[in-house]
Amino acid sequence: MGVNVHHHSYDVVIVGAGGAGLRAAIETAGTVRTAVITKLYPTRSHTGAAQGGMCAALANVEEDSWEWHAFDTVKGSDYLGDQDAIEIMCREAIDAVIDLEHFGLPFSRTPDGKIDQRRFGGHTRNHGEAPVRRACYAADRTGHMILQTLFQQCVARGVQFFNEFQVFDVLFEGEGNDRRAAGVVAYELATGDLHVFAAKAVMFATGGFGRVFQISSNAHTLTGDGPAVLLRRGVPLEDMEFYQFHPTGIYGIGILLTEGARGEGGILRNGLGERFMERVAPTVKDLAPRDMVARAIHAEIREGRGAGPDKDYVYLDLTHLPPEQIDAKLPDISGFVRTYLGLEPKRDPIPIQPTAHYAMGGIPTNVHAEVVVDPAGTVLPGLYAAGECACVSVHGANRLGTNSLLDINVFGRRGGRAMVEYVAGVDHPDIARGAEEPVREHIEHLRSHKGSERVGALRTTLQAAMMRDASVVRTGESLAEAHRVIRELKERYHDVAIDDKGSVFNFDLTEALELGNLLDLAEVLVIGAEARTESRGAHWRDDYPTRDDVNWMKHTLAYREPDGSIRLDYKPVVLGKYEPMERKY
Ligand SMILES: Cc1cc2nc3c(=O)[nH]c(=O)nc-3n(C[C@H](O)[C@H](O)[C@H](O)COP(=O)(O)OP(=O)(O)OC[C@H]3O[C@@H](n4cnc5c(N)ncnc54)[C@H](O)[C@@H]3O)c2cc1C
Repeated sequence: MGVNVHHHSYDVVIVGAGGAGLRAAIETAGTVRTAVITKLYPTRSHTGAAQGGMCAALANVEEDSWEWHAFDTVKGSDYLGDQDAIEIMCREAIDAVIDLEHFGLPFSRTPDGKIDQRRFGGHTRNHGEAPVRRACYAADRTGHMILQTLFQQCVARGVQFFNEFQVFDVLFEGEGNDRRAAGVVAYELATGDLHVFAAKAVMFATGGFGRVFQISSNAHTLTGDGPAVLLRRGVPLEDMEFYQFHPTGIYGIGILLTEGARGEGGILRNGLGERFMERVAPTVKDLAPRDMVARAIHAEIREGRGAGPDKDYVYLDLTHLPPEQIDAKLPDISGFVRTYLGLEPKRDPIPIQPTAHYAMGGIPTNVHAEVVVDPAGTVLPGLYAAGECACVSVHGANRLGTNSLLDINVFGRRGGRAMVEYVAGVDHPDIARGAEEPVREHIEHLRSHKGSERVGALRTTLQAAMMRDASVVRTGESLAEAHRVIRELKERYHDVAIDDKGSVFNFDLTEALELGNLLDLAEVLVIGAEARTESRGAHWRDDYPTRDDVNWMKHTLAYREPDGSIRLDYKPVVLGKYEPMERKY
């Protein structure tokens, strides 16, 4: 079947219309010709599902400072975060929130009209003394408000959107160390046509890949397309073994119940009704960072103190909160509990379990969102990444709640500004004829192949294996088993056939391509985790249960070699004034 190919030329192409992509586009639009390409309609991006808040040391309701925020972020990261980037993020947080306020974001307010702030895990006053109110929020719909607000600003600035276009390849001009980004190849979902976009600067802002796990808070669309495309084209991925499990997913389905629920006073209880976080984190209790809380839940269940017939969940208890507080501050998650569990959060404790939530790792960048490709920090000209698909690294081995909505705003803006500067000094790239060929061939192969494997079955097997063997707690043995399953699935993937041979909204086809991305990222995650013989942040090895700063205070870089194998390299962590300590809360 012939495929129509269309050609476009822009100064800047941004892949992804979540918070990071839109925030970047606000900076570039009006100054340089900008296109935003997105596989979803912009306001369906996962940023819109974010609930609890975006933090900044505004000190609106109690004393706070950006230095305390930086300290908490470094400690939360288990000392793997780069301290230069963290300082920038925490300092610029204040402007990032004020920008959003000026863009018209309807924040929840204090009685005297200031932006209200609430508590969140790992955010403390004066270096760990007590929880601090640092998260700015709009009830439990903060992400929704951010996404709508940024989208409106993009529309007002005339940003050109290509909605429901899925990028499957990146283009370069030149070879090896002399190459620069030159564009992308996208597949138009409504028609099956291919589009070649030539651009001086390309930013990836494609979000996370939580669909690699069975129980996940992430939308079905979060399949890591950006990192997977770049990995195949020789760009390394950083710290992929660090994957965050959020403590409070709805039992059995993983839909998120925001940490804001504990920020408002919610308590975790085991099957015996005990407040077990008192034992684990005596100072901040239920507001410890997510890696510690997720592991504590895992331990309660493993040691037989879970709830329910199989003793495999614990409770989030909101029943002691004033009903009007639940209505005002947590309306959306209350609705989820009623809809999916048939329970009333004002009266019933809520069954929860840890849910795959956030990728700390991703495409390595510097603080200008420029992609860097080796331990020396060499920039690949014209290529940018921001948001959850990127690794700056401000989150290190464990992200603090509310620091991602912050990250996308701060580094989206910085990336946008850097691109405006860069494109002023370079010519338009030359794109070779037939640049779309590899994508076209892959798609034709999937359409015509008469194999015996089905996408759904392979994906389910992958997600179950990752959940069992590479999630909250890992061992060398469990990771080896996950690795074996992934290798087998990659073999079977060659024999995948799809039923829909058409060209109009062929999700059979796009899901097959997305499964290929999930398999590649799962492999990198597991290989990085097998190599890292220590426990740090979200990467917990039962067979190596301590942090090993002597050997492992370093970032992983994973490269895909031409023969398809993965090679690991490492780069130093950017240290600063915060010395690594034991993490007590
Ligand atoms: C349920 C939930 C609640 C959360 N709550 C909070 C919170 O309260 N506070 C906080 O700080 N963080 C929170 N997070 C995390 C935070 O929301 C995300 O990390 C962040 O919004 C990611 O933004 P992004 O712009 O990087 O990506 P996304 O918002 O995920 O956007 C990705 C974009 O990329 C596009 N895309 C992807 N692949 C392709 C492709 N191949 N071609 C074209 N386009 C593509 C998509 O269409 C989409 O527009 C939450 C996350 C979840 C899942």
